[in-house]
Amino acid sequence: MGSDLIIIGGGASGFMGAITAISSGLRSVLILEGTSKVLEKVRISGGGRCNITNSCSEIYNLVNNYPRGEKQLISLFTRFSTSEAFDWFQNRGLSLKIEKDGRVFPSSDSSDDVIKCLRTLAKKAGVKVFTNSHVKQIRILKSGFNLLIKGQNSFEAKNILICTGGHPSGRRLAESLGHSIIKPVPSLFSFSTSDKSLGSCSGITLNVQIKLKVNKKKFAESGPLLITHNGFSGPIILRLSAFSARDLHANKYKGELIINWLCINEDEARLKIDLFKQKNGKKLVFNNKPFEKLPRSLWNIFLSILGFDSQLKWADISKYKKESLIKCLTMSTYTINSRGPFGEEFVTAGGVSLKEINFKTMESKICHGLFFAGEVLDIDGVTGGFNFQHCWTSGWVAGKSIALKYS
Ligand SMILES: Cc1cc2nc3c(=O)[nH]c(=O)nc-3n(C[C@H](O)[C@H](O)[C@H](O)COP(=O)(O)OP(=O)(O)OC[C@H]3O[C@@H](n4cnc5c(N)ncnc54)[C@H](O)[C@@H]3O)c2cc1C
Repeated sequence: MGSDLIIIGGGASGFMGAITAISSGLRSVLILEGTSKVLEKVRISGGGRCNITNSCSEIYNLVNNYPRGEKQLISLFTRFSTSEAFDWFQNRGLSLKIEKDGRVFPSSDSSDDVIKCLRTLAKKAGVKVFTNSHVKQIRILKSGFNLLIKGQNSFEAKNILICTGGHPSGRRLAESLGHSIIKPVPSLFSFSTSDKSLGSCSGITLNVQIKLKVNKKKFAESGPLLITHNGFSGPIILRLSAFSARDLHANKYKGELIINWLCINEDEARLKIDLFKQKNGKKLVFNNKPFEKLPRSLWNIFLSILGFDSQLKWADISKYKKESLIKCLTMSTYTINSRGPFGEEFVTAGGVSLKEINFKTMESKICHGLFFAGEVLDIDGVTGGFNFQHCWTSGWVAGKSIALKYS
């Protein structure tokens, strides 16, 4: 029989699986990569900087960043979590830094250094890497597997680790070995609206509270929102898109977004306005706003939309106008009519059904000797380094447990 382990896919999870397996005692480990280059997603990740993980380490807070796989990751993270990944790279010569928002990057801000680190470790450990080796078919043998490579010979292995990311061929291979696939849909995208009234404020980012209604389902988040030419983006929208990915897909990307621009309730907003009005009766509403954090351009747009006269003074504001302003500031409603472009990151929601995986080992419950790690599984996270973290974790657990079979 050929190799102890063949890994299909030379991405983040594949390299972590290979390095871990061989460093834990496995003798022969091979990576088969379909394209001409390994670790291409790592190269383009984080705008070329590679957001490698996140500093969030409390497990229940951490799994909160995974719309799919939250439950299964609890046990996986008890074994290899964000702090283990941080130390793993640092101890192997890759210097890392933590940014204010908790995202972790290489100190050099270059994804090339992550690639160099993983490639060097794999080479030193004796992992063989074959590029241009797209695995077309897997056949089950008496004591292992036979893998057919497009236009080439075949390989044999005692164990297989499928790490093909969001590529459809990995899901097809899994299906051919008896696994069910949860239909893949996009995650981590911005929202487009038909309402272009905020277009002149595009580029503004501010902290807001948002409710999203998709059919009868409701989602709520708070955090930084970015106003774009076509609608909304920023961390809060990407997070909402991830948690509502399946519902939005089923509803053809139509939904209703309710934004509280002030992050305070109606009564608090009313009180602030009344106090401001008392003190600033003679001042123009357009030039004087009671809410410091609200950008002036946004304030002026809201007043224009609501038909406020540019010469209106605070003392002359009618009750009706005041209430319409409060409603606009605390519950502006926008209709989402399509999915906007992706941000810096994009992942697939869906993949190999989690019910069919043993999360102590990452081995298939259906096919002995077959393992999975990374995005090929129905696990995905929000932006912030959480997607790579899941790859490091599942790759590490798979590598360890395969090596353990022979120890
Ligand atoms: C633009 C962009 C930026 C991103 N930035 C970040 C970020 O900063 N932080 C973060 O956490 N996440 C980020 N992500 C998400 C992250 O890149 C993925 O979650 C991660 O790469 C998945 O790793 P993986 O090992 O599962 O699969 P991949 O990295 O996709 O690797 C799979 C490999 O398998 C190969 N393959 C597929 N099928 C076969 C086959 N049949 N035979 C042989 N080889 C095959 C593919 O060619 C590929 O090289 C980003 C994603 C994108 C698209």
